Amino acid sequence: MKMRIQLVIENESGVTTTAQIAALERRESDDLIGISLDEAKTMTGSVQRALVESQAREAINRASKCPECQVQLRRNGSHRMSYRTPFGRLDLGSPRFYRCRSQTNTRQSFSPLAEWLGDHTSPEWQYLEAQFAALLSYGVSARILGSVLPLQHATSITTWKRDVARVGTRLDEEAHHRLMSAPVLNESGLREAQSIARGRHRWRVRQGLRRTVAAGRVV
Ligand SMILES: [Zn+2]
Repeated sequence: MKMRIQLVIENESGVTTTAQIAALERRESDDLIGISLDEAKTMTGSVQRALVESQAREAINRASKCPECQVQLRRNGSHRMSYRTPFGRLDLGSPRFYRCRSQTNTRQSFSPLAEWLGDHTSPEWQYLEAQFAALLSYGVSARILGSVLPLQHATSITTWKRDVARVGTRLDEEAHHRLMSAPVLNESGLREAQSIARGRHRWRVRQGLRRTVAAGRVV
């Protein structure tokens, strides 16, 4: 038995394209029933690639025209840009465009993908990196995640540590902000502090410390 898995994508203009995701074959002599781990990894990696590449094309198309006068913007070269996800690292073609004269008098250019991709790491991958690093060593985490996900060079230990440090810093800042904005710590709330400090304040500190420690122990 042979099976081909295709992905049909319809873009914003209604045009459909078909991407080949996987070709599976089973013989009578095969022990395997259903799909293997390797096949599942290949399929999710292929779906991710086809989907992100299609999304990137639409993001570039949208940004390639001036939002005010709809003029097609002139290109200023292109380069490659990577995006790291739990389903593989994607290297995407990233053109630059000169901004329209209706928006600026200078010859400024911009990269639509750079603005669209943010910090080049998907939130799902950042979540997994932080979750696993808080519980296990980087090496064990990489082996476990690599056995079920098509990571395909999505990360290195050095990059992983840097990402987790960034998440830890962000959690610290958020915890600090919450503490400073609590009624017990701002000026108008000083009197209230006497009545609620023992309860709410301690609870907030504990929450902040717990999250900080959870992220900080792996840095
Ligand atoms: Zn314009």
